[in-house]
Amino acid sequence: MISLPNTLAFRLTFRYTVVVIILITIVFTASYFLLKKTLNQNMKHDLLEDIIEFQMLYQNEGLDGVKREIEREIKLGEEQDFFFQLFDKDGTQIYSSDLSHWQFLPENQHIIKEVFSTREFIFQTISIQGAEYKAKTIHNLIAPDILLYTGESTEDIQDIMTLLSRVFIGMFLIVIPISFVIGWLMAGHAVKGIKEVSRIASEIEKGKLDRRVSVSAQGDEITQLVNTFNAMLDRIKVLIFEMKEMTNNIAHDLRSPLARIRVISELVLSSNNTPKEFKSAASDTIEECDRLLQMINSTLDVAEAEADIFQRPKQKVNISLLVQDACELFEAMADQKRIKLIYRLEDNCFIYGNIQNLQRMLANLLDNAIKYTLANGQVDVVLTGTRQNIEIMVMDTGMGIPKNDQARVFDRFFRCDQSRTHDGCGLGLSFSRAVARSHGGDINLISRLKKGSRFTTKLPVA
Ligand code: ADP
Repeated sequence: MISLPNTLAFRLTFRYTVVVIILITIVFTASYFLLKKTLNQNMKHDLLEDIIEFQMLYQNEGLDGVKREIEREIKLGEEQDFFFQLFDKDGTQIYSSDLSHWQFLPENQHIIKEVFSTREFIFQTISIQGAEYKAKTIHNLIAPDILLYTGESTEDIQDIMTLLSRVFIGMFLIVIPISFVIGWLMAGHAVKGIKEVSRIASEIEKGKLDRRVSVSAQGDEITQLVNTFNAMLDRIKVLIFEMKEMTNNIAHDLRSPLARIRVISELVLSSNNTPKEFKSAASDTIEECDRLLQMINSTLDVAEAEADIFQRPKQKVNISLLVQDACELFEAMADQKRIKLIYRLEDNCFIYGNIQNLQRMLANLLDNAIKYTLANGQVDVVLTGTRQNIEIMVMDTGMGIPKNDQARVFDRFFRCDQSRTHDGCGLGLSFSRAVARSHGGDINLISRLKKGSRFTTKLPVA
C-alpha cells in the first residue's frame, strides 16, 4: 500500500496547487505594483496641473487671485489632505493654507533656493513626523519671484492598496482550498485507469490469467496503456498455450521411440534369442536412438538458426544453382512416389548466405512437398528474382493445411493431426523459417485443404 504523500494523485494535486499559488501571486504582485505606479503618476500629474493653473491665475488675477483659489480648493476638499505655501525669493513664506495638520513638514529652504536658481520643479515623496501616510509634494515657480510649495497626502492610494491586499488574501484563502479539491478530483480521474491496471495486474499475479482491464472510449494515454496491457496479456496467454502445446508435442514425440526401445528390450529379456535376433534388436534400438538424437539435434539447429538472426552470414551464394541441386536431389524421391517435380529457375541469382543452412531449408520444403502429396500429384518449384528480392516458391497438390494450423506449422514441434502418420518431428519448418529470417527474409504460406500448399521464401539479393 502506497502512503498518501507518495501517491501520484497527491503529487499531481500538490504540484497543481503550487502552480496555482505561484500564478495568483505573480498576477497579484504585478497588478499591485502596476496600480500603485498608475495612482502615483496620476497624483504627480494632478500636482503639475495645479502648478500650471496657478501660474495662469497669477498672470490673470495676481497674488490675490491665487490666494482666493487656494482658499476655494481647501474649502472643497478636506484640510488634512493637502496644503499650499507661497514663498518669495528670500525663502520667506508669504502665504499658506491651514498647516495645523502639516506642522512637521521638513525644512525646505535649500530646495526653495535651488528652484529659484534652476527654475525647474522638484517633486518629492516625504514622510511627515507622526503622520501615518506619506505625502507627494512639488516645489515650482508660479511667477519669477513666487514659489508655490504644495502637497497631497497619499492616504487614498494607501487605502486602495490595503483594500487590494485584503482582497488578495481573501481570494487566496478561498481559491487555494478550491483548487486543491479540483486538483484532487482531476488527478483522481486521471490515475483511475492506472489504478485499474495495477489492480488487475495484482489479480493476474494471484493466478487469474483471464482478467482484463475494461477500456474507456476516451482514446487518451491511459486507454492506450490499457490496450497495450491487454494486448500483452493476450500475447502471454497465447505464448503459454503454445509452450504447453510444444511441451505436449515433445513428450508425445519422445514417448514413441522410447516406448519402442522399451518393447524391444523387454522382448530381448523375455525370450531365448538367437544371436541373429540379438543383432536385429540392437539395430532396432540404434535406429530409435538415432531418431531421438535427430530430434535433439534438430532442436539445437533451430535454436542456432534463430540466434543467427542477429549475425547474418556473408558468403555470396548462387541461389539458382543451390535450388537446382536440391531439385535434382529430390527428383529420385519424387519419381519413387510417382510425383511430377517441375522446376523453373531464373539463372544466376545471388544472395549472401550460409550455404549449409540454405541447403537444409530447401531440403525441408521439398521433402515436405513430396511427403505430404499423394501419388500422381505434382510439385512445382519456381525461382524468380527482382532488384531487391529472390522468391522461391515450392507448390504442391498435396493434402493442404487446415486454416487454423497455418500460422502454427512454423512453431517448433507442431504437426497437423492429419500428418501424424508420416515421419517427422515438426521441426523442419521452424528451422526453415529461422534460416530465412537469419538471411533478412521470411517464408509465407498459402494453403487449401486437399488442394495443396504454396510456401514462398523471400530473400534479399546480394
Ligand atoms: P515435419 O517433420 O512434421 O514435416 P515440419 O516442421 O516440416 O515438420 O512441418 C510441420 C507440419 O506442417 C507437418 O507436420 C505437416 O503437418 C505440415 N506441413 C508442412 N509442409 C506441408 C505440406 N507441403 N503440405 C501439407 N502439410 C505440410
